[in-house]
Amino acid sequence: MQPRIAGRNFLFVPGPTNVPDRVQRAMMVAMEDHRSSKFPELSTSVLQDLKKVFKTEAGQVFIFPSSGTGAWEAALTNTLSPGDRILAARFGQFSHLWIDMAQRLGFDVQVVEVDWGEGVPVQRYEEILSADKRHEIKGVLACHNETATGVTSDIAGVRRALNAAQHPALLYVDAVSSLASIDFRMDEWQVDLAVSGSQKGLMLPAGLGVLGVSGKAHGAMSGAKSRRCYFDLADMIKANATGYFPYTPSLPMLYGLRESLNLIFEEGLERIFFRHHYLAEGVRAAITSGWRLNLCAKEPKWYSDTVSAVLVPEGVNAGHVIDVAFRRYNLALGAGLARVAGRVFRIGHLGDLNELMLMGAIAGAEMAMQDVGIKVTAGSGVAAASDYWRTHDPVPKMRVSREQQFYESHSTGSIQG
Ligand code: PLP
Repeated sequence: MQPRIAGRNFLFVPGPTNVPDRVQRAMMVAMEDHRSSKFPELSTSVLQDLKKVFKTEAGQVFIFPSSGTGAWEAALTNTLSPGDRILAARFGQFSHLWIDMAQRLGFDVQVVEVDWGEGVPVQRYEEILSADKRHEIKGVLACHNETATGVTSDIAGVRRALNAAQHPALLYVDAVSSLASIDFRMDEWQVDLAVSGSQKGLMLPAGLGVLGVSGKAHGAMSGAKSRRCYFDLADMIKANATGYFPYTPSLPMLYGLRESLNLIFEEGLERIFFRHHYLAEGVRAAITSGWRLNLCAKEPKWYSDTVSAVLVPEGVNAGHVIDVAFRRYNLALGAGLARVAGRVFRIGHLGDLNELMLMGAIAGAEMAMQDVGIKVTAGSGVAAASDYWRTHDPVPKMRVSREQQFYESHSTGSIQG
């Protein structure tokens, strides 16, 4: 047996993220009857409050006992029929996996290949949609934050492309690693299906697939012929209307979600977005000014505020950095996936964290890189991040708009198990 490693594990993969102590405590509950007359208080409050996180008043939010992948499937199968055409772009492992799922479910996916390190090609989308005069494309997929490469895409731009082409296709957005960390505006961007999961910005363990559904997407359900059963929204809508689920929900996860929503509203969504940007800028300073390495994201406009993928020098296997960081320093960094395996390691900077937690990740990555022979100057990443954080404000100087006040207004309540 391996001897115990003392101290905390530094978890800096881009999900699962660190679960705050308050959320962990909230999940330590005795099991309850999920058909009791008390249960709807909890379910209704979390379903209502999730809408604020998605920034939707018009839409409805659903929770599936799955991970984000389940919510991907629910989004597609509830609104499309086999053979339907979908437009999608592939620029990382997660945009790839959603395309792969759509193909395996029998949809006809028109794939735009994009260099890994860039994001949704808005201009190309507009050209394709404008050329589709007969409106054969029924759905447009966009991965808001490609976790594999650390790239954030312009979803408002995708909406503008659809509008410019006067195209009625449904807009499907993967917000798995952006929701509650990077600004996401379901109503304003007219997103029809917004997919997320619990183990990233929502600061919970994996286990909940979260899905925002617009009125237009709701309208598409009756004509959608894809086979579905466990993920049939019709069952969920019927059960949720009375405050229940069509099957046994995970009570601890729902209590944890209640507490994570409380934390989110206590900090304020806009402040959370600002904090993620501020922390990400410090990490990027460490990578580019300190270590003099490149990000996988090719231009600043693609930089993700939740994850940075660091390109290691040619001839080095990034997997070795990750392995040494884990075994020697008890630090979990994200691996390079698929096409960028061995080329990058990733630092997740999302969820419940602050400067000094990230300093641990930066220092550990720096030591691991030196151990495998990468020429980085000792302390250079830490110094660059510290220079950034010491000279920038950690909270936004902004006037809170009426819209923000709405979304940040008090939650529907804290419910204890
Ligand atoms: N989409 C993105 C952008 C992701 O980062 C992930 C997981 O990391 C997924 C989808 C799949 O989500 P899950 O692993 O929760 O099924």
